[in-house]
Amino acid sequence: MSTKHDEEHSFPYEVVKQMGEMGLFGLPFPEEFGGMGGDYFALALALEQLGRVDQSVAITLEAGVSLGAMPVYRFGTQEQKEHWLPQLTSAEALAGFGLTEPEAGSDAGGTKTNAHLEDGRWVINGNKEFITNSGTDITRLVTVTAVTGQHERKDGSIKKEISTILVPTDTPGFTAEKAYNKVGWNASDTHR
Ligand SMILES: Cc1cc2nc3c(=O)[nH]c(=O)nc-3n(C[C@H](O)[C@H](O)[C@H](O)COP(=O)(O)OP(=O)(O)OC[C@H]3O[C@@H](n4cnc5c(N)ncnc54)[C@H](O)[C@@H]3O)c2cc1C
Repeated sequence: MSTKHDEEHSFPYEVVKQMGEMGLFGLPFPEEFGGMGGDYFALALALEQLGRVDQSVAITLEAGVSLGAMPVYRFGTQEQKEHWLPQLTSAEALAGFGLTEPEAGSDAGGTKTNAHLEDGRWVINGNKEFITNSGTDITRLVTVTAVTGQHERKDGSIKKEISTILVPTDTPGFTAEKAYNKVGWNASDTHR
């Protein structure tokens, strides 16, 4: 089965808006952050039903929840949660998670993107690829993995310290490049 957006390779904004109104983006989050107070089982049921019609819509929801909002909920500060979660659980905004690089996919340890503190602010240099929900008109945040230091192991080898940093998309220097022309998941938003 295919849908209009799958055929047109366009992002299903009106579907995302409706899913937001139904509370689907807030399913596994507490009500205090605009969530439904449910769990991942409920999310899995929703994804299964959406996936029967259009896999792109299902992955848009799954990535929006698990890659976009969940890192903020699990590991963010109270201030970050209060700022980001209400807009993400309502699908007023979308967030992505940028781990993959040309030499870092399965092997996150290959990460080359680096970040250092300058006058109390993180300066990040690097490129990410295949990042879901990173370039829509409503994307406001991408959480990025970056090397922020290194440690020496007991055996003398070096282990990278990889941190996750929230990067609002209006940060100077942030660019989402042209969307990929994929062979599937045509209505899902994926950028370098
Ligand atoms: C449509 C789409 C959306 C994506 N969205 C995101 C996103 O939102 N955020 C993000 O960070 N990334 C995203 N990715 C990237 C995805 O997570 C990576 O493609 C994935 O992690 C694999 O990494 P890779 O492409 O570098 O392949 P590789 O890691 O190079 O793997 C290539 C092949 O080698 C195999 N392999 C790798 N290591 C081993 C090993 N040690 N032993 C045996 N086999 C191995 C793998 O199973 C695979 O078959 C997306 C990719 C696609 C296609």
